[in-house]
Amino acid sequence: MNTIEQTNAHIMGTYGRSDVVLDHGSGATIQDAEGKSYIDFGSGIGTSSLGFCDPAWADAVCAQVRKVQHTSNLFYHQPQADLAEKLCNMSGYSKLFFGNSGAEANECAIKIARKYSFDKYGKGRQTIITLVNSFHGRTITTLSATGQDVFHNYFFPFTEGFRYAKANDIADLHDKLDDTVCGIMIEYVQGEGGVMALEQSFVDEIRKICDEKDIIMIADEVQTGIGRTGTLFAGEQFGVKADVTTAAKGLGGGLPIGACLANAKCADVLGKGAHGSTFGGNPVVCAGATQVLNTLAAPGKMEEIREKSAWLREKLSALGEVEAVTGLGLMIGISLRTKKAPDVLKACLDKGLLVLTAKDRVRLLPPLTISWDELKAGAAILCEVLEG
Ligand SMILES: *Cc1c(COP(=O)(O)O)cnc(C)c1O
Repeated sequence: MNTIEQTNAHIMGTYGRSDVVLDHGSGATIQDAEGKSYIDFGSGIGTSSLGFCDPAWADAVCAQVRKVQHTSNLFYHQPQADLAEKLCNMSGYSKLFFGNSGAEANECAIKIARKYSFDKYGKGRQTIITLVNSFHGRTITTLSATGQDVFHNYFFPFTEGFRYAKANDIADLHDKLDDTVCGIMIEYVQGEGGVMALEQSFVDEIRKICDEKDIIMIADEVQTGIGRTGTLFAGEQFGVKADVTTAAKGLGGGLPIGACLANAKCADVLGKGAHGSTFGGNPVVCAGATQVLNTLAAPGKMEEIREKSAWLREKLSALGEVEAVTGLGLMIGISLRTKKAPDVLKACLDKGLLVLTAKDRVRLLPPLTISWDELKAGAAILCEVLEG
């Protein structure tokens, strides 16, 4: 059996995979098992933020795996303490909780919003408002939080207590408010929903409502966070700070991690026994994530991301086939006039470029460290496909 047959014979068929077996990579370039080379504009869905096997990241991970690979959270270890301190210092949040994925980070945020409200106001204030077209994860609760009907199927009963407001519709948001609401959860740029940024006025209104009514504002920055949009968190560009922000995808540089960051008001809501994770904040993963943050904190790194974003956006916007280029920073959505996104993905693959889709758009999440040469080579393939 070859890899594809072996996979399909033994792994549940939950993914729509491309028929490519990836083997080894470096920078933003990866080879398949047959030696064909691809430029990566997908980063494994925004996770391999430093590209493939970044040398400093790989050294940090390998050194840690040879020192101690796991302790559980019944003990302390330095890599976890270092990562937590760095992430709090860089983001301005007070404390955080480590899990292993975006969904887990969001579960933690939902628990914080509900318990904050329970502790202060008692039972009955449990509703979380999320947005139509959002995506918050695949657990039963984060599926409930996800404001897309297609995800609310088969697995009944779903977790209660979620309500969906239309993005950028302030009147609808006010309609959804009542005194059972304890949280409002948003993505500044809806990723899976089609790479759509929220409007400033809508974000401002959410922050205002949350302040006035003591509602916890949760920013799901699982996709937008950790430099993806050209700032450490996308909230910075809206001049807004959520009470709770979640991160995951890009944080580990390709290893599984999720973090739920809380401001002073929410930092001590979850005390001993209130939450936990066996693997969360694992030393190897934390050592890698610290190296991701070190790389992104280097002088000029965010400017470089913004420059590359501007260059690519300008290039794509000039194409006749391109109706609009959406998103922020190196989180790019491309809406097409005549072509279909899955066809573009396939044509790019044939020519040696990995891209993603989101709804009917082509989605690009290149590694944040992509070289200008790789960026230009990838863009040339994409332009050729879009103009062909
Ligand atoms: C990917 C994603 C998630 C889910 O993350 P997992 O690591 O797959 O659990 C949640 N929220 C957003 C915005 C995402 O993009």
